[in-house]
Amino acid sequence: MEEFYTHINKKLYYITVCIVITIMAMGLLEGNAIIGWLEFGFVLHSLLVVILSVCLLLYPKHVTHLFRAVIIILAFCYFYTIFFLYPGIGSNFIFLCFIPAVAILFFDSKLFYFSIPLNSILMTFTFVYINYLDEESAYYYIKENLIGNVINFIGSQALICFTFYLTYGRMKKQQLYYEQIKQSERLKTTGQLAAALAHEIRNPLTVVKGFLQLYEKDTAYSADAKRHFRLMIDELNIAEEVLSQFLSIAKPNRNAVTETVNVRSVLQSVVDLLQSYGFFRDNKIELKVMEDCFIAVNNIEIKQMLVNIIKNAIEASKIGDSVIVTAERKKDFVEIKVTDFGDGMSEEEVKSLGTPFYSLKSKGTGLGMMICFNIAAKYNGTIDFHSKKGEGTTVTIRFP
Ligand code: ADP
Ligand code: MG
Repeated sequence: MEEFYTHINKKLYYITVCIVITIMAMGLLEGNAIIGWLEFGFVLHSLLVVILSVCLLLYPKHVTHLFRAVIIILAFCYFYTIFFLYPGIGSNFIFLCFIPAVAILFFDSKLFYFSIPLNSILMTFTFVYINYLDEESAYYYIKENLIGNVINFIGSQALICFTFYLTYGRMKKQQLYYEQIKQSERLKTTGQLAAALAHEIRNPLTVVKGFLQLYEKDTAYSADAKRHFRLMIDELNIAEEVLSQFLSIAKPNRNAVTETVNVRSVLQSVVDLLQSYGFFRDNKIELKVMEDCFIAVNNIEIKQMLVNIIKNAIEASKIGDSVIVTAERKKDFVEIKVTDFGDGMSEEEVKSLGTPFYSLKSKGTGLGMMICFNIAAKYNGTIDFHSKKGEGTTVTIRFP
């Protein structure tokens, strides 16, 4: 489906570009009739048409910010050049007003914010030129009513900005919607997977564990053998633990009661619990909570979530670095921040968080963040990541 649309989009893009190039070529013929072949202006005009056409044709193969910037700057050069080369064609003025719209076609907000001020500056110079320096009055049609033309220009920029905000807002909304659908799709898949796994593995495990517990009590076995049985039982307990983690995703505990939880004491107990984990690699956890704040959640689930997130922060930290945990009351919510100065993540990696089994650690399960997102969603909370590769990560958790 997705491929089908990108295919059609590409086709549409090339058709549009071909039409644009044809129109530019027609302009070139017309220009030739006006200023003749080997004039400098005509050579410049032809050169710009060729470079712009090549760039537009190459763009689908290099969809980068830089390439878009180059195309927009070329568009600026092209439209201003033809405006000054052919004063007789009054409608060129309209094109000048609408150059920033190219950024909207490319859906690039940064370029849009760049091209609106640039166009205003260039246009101011143009108006000054027409009013004071244009001795032949080649632009008499603008000069005759300069104020009116300036107002029209401002109006056109306002119209473009308005179009941009509406289109951009709608696009963002759709993107968000798509992300949500993807996330719920993921949850469904793991849910089914977890249920099947738990069913298939738990029963044999229980049987094996039962027999081992029996043998452990049997006097016929030596103390040595019994020690081995104990080890096996412990390992099976770990396996069961992993399974119940799976199950907590598949069937969130519906009996979990929502209670009023003091964020300070929960954080204190989680930090105490993980302090020894951090000691291992000389990482200290610094807890800074200024005031008591309360949220309505299940005590065990919120602890499970915080343990996961702080553990990730410790695991990402370099030896000796601290992890900083803060909590404060904001307007209608409580904000908990966990900051580390470790590995950090790229934008792509942040997007992958919450995907089942997504883990970059050799012993990671890649389920931790998924559980966290589930718990946060259950209590209308949010988890946001701000991360830079090599500099560290700040996880912001908000609960109403
Ligand atoms: P696990 O910890 O078992 O790998 P998680 O779901 O908890 O699974 O985390 C998934 C991945 O996200 C981790 O493997 C790690 O690469 C990345 N990650 C999570 N938190 C951080 C962090 N604070 N800094 C850098 N990477 C992180
Ligand atoms: Mg983890």
